[in-house]
Amino acid sequence: MTDVKPAQPLDATPGNGPIQWRVLKFGGSSVATATGWDRIADAARAAAGEARRFVIVVSALKGVTDRLEQAVRALEGRSPEATAALIDELRDRHARLARATGIQSGALDPLLDDLAAALREQAAAPEDARHGARVLGFGELLSSRLGHAILAAQGVAVDWLDSREVLRADDDSRRNERARWLSADCTVAPDPAFAAALGDRGAAWIAPGFIARGENGDTVLLGRGGSDVSAALIGTRLGAERVEIHSDVPGLFTADPRRIPAARLLRNVSYREAMELAAMGAKALHPRALIPLKRHRIPLWLCQTERPDIDGTRITPEAHEHGAQVKAIVQRRGITLVTMEGLDMWQQVGFLADVFGVFRDHGLSVDLVSTSESNVTVTLDPGANPTDRATLDRLAADLGRFCQVDVRSDCASVSLVGLGIRTILHRIGPALEVFEQRRIFLVSQAANDLNLTFVVEARHAEKLVQQLHQQIIPGGVGGDSVFGPSWDRLNRDEAAIRAVPPWWSQRADDLLETLGDDDAAYVYALDQVRAAAARLKTLRTVDRVLYSMKANPHPDLLRAIVGEGLGVECVSMAEARHVLAAVPELAAEDLLLTPNFAPRAEYREALDAGIPLTIDNPWLLEHWGADLAGRSVFLRIDPGSGLGHHKMVRTAGSNAKFGVPLDELERTLRLARAHDITIRGLHAHTGSGILHPDNWERSLEVLTGIATELPSVEVINLGGGLGVPDRSDELPLDLMALDAGLARIKRALNRDVQIWLEPGRYLVAAAGVLLARVTQLKGKGEVRYVGVATGMNSLIRPALYGAWHEIVNLSRLGKAGEHAYNVVGPICETGDVLGLDRLLPESREGDVLLIANAGAYGAAMASRYNLREPAVEKVIDAERR
Ligand code: ASP
Ligand code: MG
Repeated sequence: MTDVKPAQPLDATPGNGPIQWRVLKFGGSSVATATGWDRIADAARAAAGEARRFVIVVSALKGVTDRLEQAVRALEGRSPEATAALIDELRDRHARLARATGIQSGALDPLLDDLAAALREQAAAPEDARHGARVLGFGELLSSRLGHAILAAQGVAVDWLDSREVLRADDDSRRNERARWLSADCTVAPDPAFAAALGDRGAAWIAPGFIARGENGDTVLLGRGGSDVSAALIGTRLGAERVEIHSDVPGLFTADPRRIPAARLLRNVSYREAMELAAMGAKALHPRALIPLKRHRIPLWLCQTERPDIDGTRITPEAHEHGAQVKAIVQRRGITLVTMEGLDMWQQVGFLADVFGVFRDHGLSVDLVSTSESNVTVTLDPGANPTDRATLDRLAADLGRFCQVDVRSDCASVSLVGLGIRTILHRIGPALEVFEQRRIFLVSQAANDLNLTFVVEARHAEKLVQQLHQQIIPGGVGGDSVFGPSWDRLNRDEAAIRAVPPWWSQRADDLLETLGDDDAAYVYALDQVRAAAARLKTLRTVDRVLYSMKANPHPDLLRAIVGEGLGVECVSMAEARHVLAAVPELAAEDLLLTPNFAPRAEYREALDAGIPLTIDNPWLLEHWGADLAGRSVFLRIDPGSGLGHHKMVRTAGSNAKFGVPLDELERTLRLARAHDITIRGLHAHTGSGILHPDNWERSLEVLTGIATELPSVEVINLGGGLGVPDRSDELPLDLMALDAGLARIKRALNRDVQIWLEPGRYLVAAAGVLLARVTQLKGKGEVRYVGVATGMNSLIRPALYGAWHEIVNLSRLGKAGEHAYNVVGPICETGDVLGLDRLLPESREGDVLLIANAGAYGAAMASRYNLREPAVEKVIDAERR
């Protein structure tokens, strides 16, 4: 560290304003590379500009603490050769980093000599944890000393601060001796005098994480991963404006992103939620770091060192204002479940005390508990307990004195985490169907109202997390204040997907002119339909896209879509006849007919016309097999909730009317063979309005599993369900992520199989709007009603499934909302509502309201209820004017 460039002082001199400290912590992977140090230097410059005073806290280079721990365990200090080899190894490791950053590392030699001495002392008195703590602390001493020189060479002047001067371990004699050395507690509070004194000595510092001062000035550790804790404690003592933890991930996610690439970055999280997530194993953060920050309301920002462009997770006192919401789905494996049954326990005083006494005597800490009159079930937390067979057997034997005991060690917990879980249980109801046919051993809703936990067999946990995540966490790739971009999205370079303003916001005049004198009309923008088709054509893994015409069979739309090269999927022969008549260039084989419980004549007609057919019921082969003999068909599979980890396991809800359940598959294939029917394709459709790109990947997984054993399969049809954002803060489906996911699975099937998709909504929903003139206004107490000329007779989705459609006053577009209105139609039904509580400008009779995203399942489902004709349909085309 001799020939460093002269350091330029940063603009970090004390000014007149209040002293603002900031603490920035960098983890082991960040400090291990030269580019990591470039980023640290950038961050230091930024902090100097904004906060004026800062402390950089560093971990040891990645792997160094592990290596030292190993040396301590193996008593390497006993052998001079082993000690020398270890010292050389560490010298080398740091020298390589020094060279890569353009400096020399000779100045670390005295520290390495001290380390050698510490190792010898440790090996001489291995039972004394004091020495082990001292050895482990060298990792951070080395990295911070080296970092000090690297930053100086980069022109960032910082001083080296000994954290042991800032942090003193609590004098807690109740804790066991080892814990006091290796995982010391340290209580601090903002200390303005200290902060000011440190500021007088220097404005910019670098300090080793992980270590603090114990009694007699010895080095103690703050527990493995404790540099986060150091940063939080130093930040607290300095009363910092915030603490930043920079690591190799940008923050906390809605699920473990390594397992679920669609997991979304959490932007705003409360301390309690963060604590829960960190305790559940989110690796971006040590849970203990949050304790002092929460108490003293110091914000904590998580950031990714290599990606300063990403706004990571912010943990702040204000975050609870985002309200009740499930923020993450997490699993913990290695859970041991202990079930204690016994009728005698009913109303027996002291029963729980007795059994918990047994746990205590075995040194086991209990995590979750549920009790009933005859059963007490608890789990043991793997982190805190030795759960080897022998321990568990001894436990069971002792508990057996009080009750019948069953111990299962193959469990996992799956938790929904978020503030106010209790208040939103009704909203997640449908998602809980994923537990159908899965045994739940224990359910626990934490009294802090932060998590709802299910204990299940470990082998089901992964799938459950996936499914709950898909159903509960909003899809999309970013854009709102709580859920940020998905992991997948963040790790690709392409320009970010943006929410674009809707096309109609630029075309109000055109739309009003198109409505003319009518009171209500659907207006479809053909250019928007074409644009959606063009987007789908960018999917490289998808060989063919069929428009699911039930969404909107308007002839102009059909022509536009077929004109873009898409095929058409029909669900009835009437649809097939309609589209063949509307689009003359379309041939029978461009269609795919997927009827469900249709009469026999319809199948015969399709076969005669040469329209490819999907069948979804073995009954049909059993009874009408002769009609199909010698033909090739598609088979629609019901992958159920997709829970079966073995492909032939039945997981379908018995209520599903579509598709062949997996447990009927073998029989269906047998029937097909008997009639010489070839299964040319497999089909599955999982749902609709899905904004999670990984949904289709799951279907593909199930279907490729079946295709592997069915060589006749040439096509896998993944159905539709591609969602369209309904609200302005939702982002569109990430087609690139969808493509990438499909490609991953397709590669695994070592055969050339085509992949088809059948979107309906995706092509036409956003292209269509419903325009309706205001008829009357009404006030009822607090509630204001605005009536329009058409209602559920034109658009039944809000009444039928509570669908949310954006509504604006097109005649007063751009005017700020003044009142919350219920937008209702003229139909004689209380349910005739188009939107509740919509903020609109003061609206008058004759104004035109626009109901957005009405191109799919609007006119197609319209009726003449009340003998009111539904809105007429009109077509505009920006490209043909
Ligand atoms: N180096 C220490 C460890 O690996 C502390 C840290 O990195 O946070 O546990
Ligand atoms: Mg860490």
